[in-house]
Amino acid sequence: MEKVEELKEKLFNKKECGWNTTSKNTTSKKEEIFEYAKGYIDFMNKSKTEREIIKSSKEIAEKNGFKEINEYETLKPGDKIYYINREKSMYLAIIGKEEIEKGVNIIGAHADSPRLDLKPNPLYEDSEFAYFKTHYYGGIKKYQWTTIPLSIHGVIVKTNGEKIEINIGENENDPIFTITDLLPHLAQDQMDKKLRNGIEGEDLNLLIGSIPYGPEIPEAVKLNILDILNKKYGITEVDLLSSELELVPAMKCRSMGFDESMVAGYGQDDKICVYTELTALMDLKEVPNKTAVCIISDKEEIGSMGNTGMESHVFDMFMSEILNKLGVNRPNLLEKVFCNSKMLSADVDAALDPIYSSVSEKNNASFLGRGIGLNKYTGARGKSGASDANAEFVAEIRAIFENNDIRYQIGELGKVDIGGGGTIAYILANKGIDVIDCGVPVLSMHSPYEVTSKFDLYEAYRGYKAFWNK
Ligand code: MN
Ligand code: MN
Repeated sequence: MEKVEELKEKLFNKKECGWNTTSKNTTSKKEEIFEYAKGYIDFMNKSKTEREIIKSSKEIAEKNGFKEINEYETLKPGDKIYYINREKSMYLAIIGKEEIEKGVNIIGAHADSPRLDLKPNPLYEDSEFAYFKTHYYGGIKKYQWTTIPLSIHGVIVKTNGEKIEINIGENENDPIFTITDLLPHLAQDQMDKKLRNGIEGEDLNLLIGSIPYGPEIPEAVKLNILDILNKKYGITEVDLLSSELELVPAMKCRSMGFDESMVAGYGQDDKICVYTELTALMDLKEVPNKTAVCIISDKEEIGSMGNTGMESHVFDMFMSEILNKLGVNRPNLLEKVFCNSKMLSADVDAALDPIYSSVSEKNNASFLGRGIGLNKYTGARGKSGASDANAEFVAEIRAIFENNDIRYQIGELGKVDIGGGGTIAYILANKGIDVIDCGVPVLSMHSPYEVTSKFDLYEAYRGYKAFWNK
């Protein structure tokens, strides 16, 4: 019998709960993990939108000696640079010791999360209530966004260029906003609908006020709201045309469970990977051999299009600038650098949820608490639209993780033919870079309150650091 156990120990892929490994000397200790999670929770509570994430990330980067790339005439190994694209996406790099022609090591996450945006003409009054019309952003289950506290974040830009920053609903003394839903007593017809149609997109209207400006005035509640907005922000209704206002859950990111092993919070897809990659970059003690490049992209949730999305050429421009300032640029060098580069596409992974385990195939599902989650490929049905990492590259990443005692797991996003998804991986893979999806497993993904494990959070941080350090 003993022999069988020995043989199993030697031959099986042990899929161990990470927390069982934290007592061993070599792996991350529980106290270390909990301490790191505190920093993450703080970061999440300061930054709920892509603009806020970029602002917080810039602060962290500058505190750690990073400078805007244009402040450098020339670059040399050890220089720390960043570039911000329209306040919504950001690229950072530490110049490595090795010739850049041999390739760079990239980690890329995204700062945008599913939410409700305001329509360009949002304000209206109905039956003595004032409302904002919304248009949802990204893949949401609409019913989850009613009857929860919501805050408004974003900017209003006036024609003279003045930009007014809005952040209301997060402070204890702020009012919050909400979208109402029907009482069960009168919801017979609604309850018979499919979950998908229970709440229609056009019914996601934010309730924002109910006091009229005065008696016997048409649209008096709307007028009163505009009067308040005018006094508070100096805007009129037409200024809302040039605004980007986002509704996000006004709920704090918090430690979760009696054992405090998890984190619950909005927007962990993909801010958990932003935080882990960013802190990993900040904590690189020595100048890396290969140039370490960190991407915080935008618009991933709606297909990465537009000039702040990963599909834009702004990232190529940033890389070209590095080549220019290193004094090595020449025709086709950028393409060559890309073809020699490696990347971890840092995006969250769907964790197996025991309540809904029928959508997952247990042998190929990611589990909360088993470490950083790799996806060799994503896509749907017959791997349609997948960026499939080459076996040679998967082996390289395995070696880095195994040599640094980083707990990892490799899974798929649900059962074959059940669904699918994608990340920014294919966009970088199309440039010739070796890319694999590598992030943190999440429960309730894309909901107003997503759940992650502190163990996986910390292993992602350690894993990203090991990748850049190799
Ligand atoms: Mn994501
Ligand atoms: Mn997502």
